[in-house]
Amino acid sequence: MVCFRRGLANNLGVTAELEDRIGSLGHEIFARANRLSPSLNNPIRRLDEWIMNLGLGNQQLKTQLFRFVDVLPALRDSQAVARHLREYLQEAMRQRQRMDSAGPLALWQRAALWRRTVERIPDDGWLGPMVAAAAAWQVRRMARRFIAAGDPDEAVAAIIRLRRRRLGFTLDVLGEAVVCESEADQYQQQYLGLIEALPRALASLEFDPQIDGDASRPLPRANISVKLSSLFSQFDPIDPQGTSQAVCGRLRPILRLARRCGAFINLDMEQWAFKDLTLQIFKSVLMEDEFRDWPDVGIAIQAYLRSAADDLQDLADWARQRGTAVWIRLVKGAYWDYETVIAAQNGWPIPVFLEKAQTDASFESAAEFVIENHALLRPAIASHNIRSLAAALAFAQSRGVPADQIEFQMLYGMAEPVKAALVEMGQRVRVYAPMGRLLPGMAYLVRRLLENTSNESFLRAGFVERAPEEQLLMSPLLQIRNKPAPVAPEQFSNEPPTDFSVEAARRAMAKAIEDYSSDRYPLLIGGRPVVTGEWIDSINPSHKSRTVGRCAKAGLPQVEQAVAAAKAALPAWRQTPARDRAGLLDRVADILAGRRFALTAIEVLECGKPWREADADIAEAIDFCRYYAQQMRLVSRPQGNDLAGEQNQWLYEARGVAVTIAPWNFPLAILCGMSAAAVVAGNPVIMKPAEQSPIIAAQLAGAFTEAGAPPGVVNYLPGIGEEIGPALVEHPDVALIAFTGSRAVGLGINQQASRPRPGQEHVKRIIIEMGGKNAIIVDADADLDEAVSGIVSSTFGYSGQKCSACSRVVAHREVHDVLLSRLIEATRSLKIAPAEDPGCRIGPVIDADAFTRIHQAVERGAREAKLAWAGAVGSLADEGFFIAPHIFAQVPPASALATEEIFGPVLSVLSADGLDEALAIANGVSYALTGGVYSRSPANIERCRREFRVGNLYINRKITGALVGRQPFGGFKLSGGGTQAGGPDYLRHFMLPRCITENTLRHGFVPTDQG
Ligand SMILES: Cc1cc2nc3c(=O)[nH]c(=O)nc-3n(C[C@H](O)[C@H](O)[C@H](O)COP(=O)(O)OP(=O)(O)OC[C@H]3O[C@@H](n4cnc5c(N)ncnc54)[C@H](O)[C@@H]3O)c2cc1C
Repeated sequence: MVCFRRGLANNLGVTAELEDRIGSLGHEIFARANRLSPSLNNPIRRLDEWIMNLGLGNQQLKTQLFRFVDVLPALRDSQAVARHLREYLQEAMRQRQRMDSAGPLALWQRAALWRRTVERIPDDGWLGPMVAAAAAWQVRRMARRFIAAGDPDEAVAAIIRLRRRRLGFTLDVLGEAVVCESEADQYQQQYLGLIEALPRALASLEFDPQIDGDASRPLPRANISVKLSSLFSQFDPIDPQGTSQAVCGRLRPILRLARRCGAFINLDMEQWAFKDLTLQIFKSVLMEDEFRDWPDVGIAIQAYLRSAADDLQDLADWARQRGTAVWIRLVKGAYWDYETVIAAQNGWPIPVFLEKAQTDASFESAAEFVIENHALLRPAIASHNIRSLAAALAFAQSRGVPADQIEFQMLYGMAEPVKAALVEMGQRVRVYAPMGRLLPGMAYLVRRLLENTSNESFLRAGFVERAPEEQLLMSPLLQIRNKPAPVAPEQFSNEPPTDFSVEAARRAMAKAIEDYSSDRYPLLIGGRPVVTGEWIDSINPSHKSRTVGRCAKAGLPQVEQAVAAAKAALPAWRQTPARDRAGLLDRVADILAGRRFALTAIEVLECGKPWREADADIAEAIDFCRYYAQQMRLVSRPQGNDLAGEQNQWLYEARGVAVTIAPWNFPLAILCGMSAAAVVAGNPVIMKPAEQSPIIAAQLAGAFTEAGAPPGVVNYLPGIGEEIGPALVEHPDVALIAFTGSRAVGLGINQQASRPRPGQEHVKRIIIEMGGKNAIIVDADADLDEAVSGIVSSTFGYSGQKCSACSRVVAHREVHDVLLSRLIEATRSLKIAPAEDPGCRIGPVIDADAFTRIHQAVERGAREAKLAWAGAVGSLADEGFFIAPHIFAQVPPASALATEEIFGPVLSVLSADGLDEALAIANGVSYALTGGVYSRSPANIERCRREFRVGNLYINRKITGALVGRQPFGGFKLSGGGTQAGGPDYLRHFMLPRCITENTLRHGFVPTDQG
């Protein structure tokens, strides 16, 4: 066996002779395809091409047309279709105008004409329905071009039509995103049904050696492609064991039946994050005794991944060990945009090649590898690119691999002349034929439209733009430019979340939890550790009998000592240059980053936060340090407005001693954010963490000390809120209080701090962030797959214990019932478990008080509304403070359930007749923190931007997870004082602005540098 030389290097060995062979095969395919092309063309097909290419020169129009295609199946009547078409076209116009604003006048004139035409598409009358019907007809036609069948009977008919053209098939079942276990069951049943039905339906068809023949045995006629994520609603690489168990539970019966009925099963490959787990499941199941000698299985490998070479080598080694070959469907990969965007958003390495030519070269290299190793890895070359196909053919011919040992695969509705050409050349060609209804089919259709119209598409270059054949057949190695990866502009970038699809990260996390041992922590006052003889026990909410550690408990004497220490540190710290104070935060960030897993483990144990949520909190703390350090450097730059004879200097300086009072739900990030802002602005700080999370707070105090904070600049004072809170807030030497927590406590602090005490020489500055009663509006045209997963994540992430959490859904009457039932099913599928379990989606609530309070709210809610669903925590009830999710329906908008914060896993679902009513309900509470909208109507989205008045509004995404520097976070009304943390204004709240003016004119003489 030839070893796969790493990455692209293998291709460098392509000889001139082989390159000539590739060229001549390529020209031959082109010649045959061009000859066969007219017979496959017809006026309707030409109309499709024209429409698909309509937007090619106009990216805005293309985007909006594809969005229209995406939303169409969700629209119930012709009025809605006409309205959306008008809105999307208007949106395209607006964007185009913005771009062309500096362009020539002609564009403006054409734009105006367009606008008048578009605006004439009415909702009603006779024209609107006509336009709507025409648009819907065309989209349905396009869908039928790429989607072979709506149901199994139609699929059989489509397969028979394909076989008449001597084409094989593999059936792909289209479906909505699997958000709950009952949907995964339905998927499995669909696969099982097809596996039973198809071989029977196809058995009587005549044997065609080109499609069905193989050297040793006939190939199965029924061939089905399976996506593993469709077999488990909680498919998540963070929990490989739990995911494998659930997936295999549904996959084994599929494989068993396929083997019995003589069907072939191929696993599709999805996004990069699922790749390792998909491969691992494939290998482990097929190594089991009952499947080990079964040859009729395969898996897709994506050549655009940098890891493709290693994965193929690994599969070859594994197949040799297995003793039976498997098929490799070699594809380039369908998620290129997604992978690059997700990696960039998270700050992760980009897993795909960045140049199309690199992907093409990787594809050829991989094709060569599987062809060389065809005894172990049976090659299924899946591409529509004539150069890629010719290269694979040339490799096979040069290695003497017979035609029946390799097959070519293409998508239904694409590259028909190329398929015909290969068939004519005696090759086996299999068509990937999707089957499904229009609604789930739209996402697939949009992917195909994007692929066909992409700038990088071979089909577009070859068959639309008619680029010269020589150019199209050129070796990709000659086209690689090795473009350096784009360098992010000099700006703040967030600390990447840990990628738990990486095994090393999972191992490090599990080890950190295992290694954690309980400890005792003293107070920190004036740079010295202080113990008081009294302790706060920190309890693990997942296991209430376990103590995570102890912290010294501060009382009133320690309040006095801490304020005195901070006051003593103030003069020097205020005068410390801003760049040095910023340097301190940078060092704290580095220390926290260096202890990432250990800190995450503490949060998992101390606060019952699931892995990903705890990890995000540590990352946010690091972000706050780095962001405020950067902001401080900006704020401290000299500012002023000088005139001749007058010098004006504006500057900011510290307010004085600061107290930060933090909650337990973001126990590191919020405490760190408020304290870092105070410190970098020059205010010595006294940190008062929540009683439930003193241990993680002690780590922050330790990090400040280690980073070199002078004595007294950072003081750590855990204690009971009612005992030391008022003393800190009311202390005459405290100038600033930053608080995040409940509304009752926040308003109390506001009141206490407003009264000056004897000896107090300043007005106290209060920065308060309180709760929310956050709503998500779901419009009639919303993408319900997205809405369900966004709502579930926003509502039940960390058991709803976030001020940003969703607690109300306001659904349009038309989608209310289906949304409610999908929400219930999706929530039912969430795993309730102790937080240290990587598969935990719902952990415990923080403590016994919260447990009681949430239960009382649920009991009261049941009197006000209909309890639509309540989960059960089973045996965990005695172990920790576990509360299962609850969903209420028919909730009166003015009820306590719909207006008061609960801070637990409780959701109210309300219904609204339209956007007017939805906005009235959403805005009709005294909170204004976060809110969300799921809609595909540009006009409704625009209206929500204006009228949904909350601090953080999220459109078509979850409403939690604000990132520092990207989504400054904080609300108004009774949610807070309008000071958004992690944003450009935040630091100024911690400082006093001053202005110094000097008259530099002396007896008519102005210094020359000011003249
Ligand atoms: C039978 C079959 C099964 C398939 N199954 C899967 C599957 O399981 N999983 C999956 O992901 N895809 C799958 N695909 C889809 C396949 O990945 C796309 O059809 C394919 O990417 C198009 O490649 P091409 O060779 O036909 O076209 P080409 O036009 O030659 O290549 C387009 C491809 O190049 C890559 N590309 C585009 N721009 C860049 C860039 N700037 N830098 C680097 N690379 C770039 C992308 O992968 C893009 O799709 C399947 C396709 C077929 C035919």
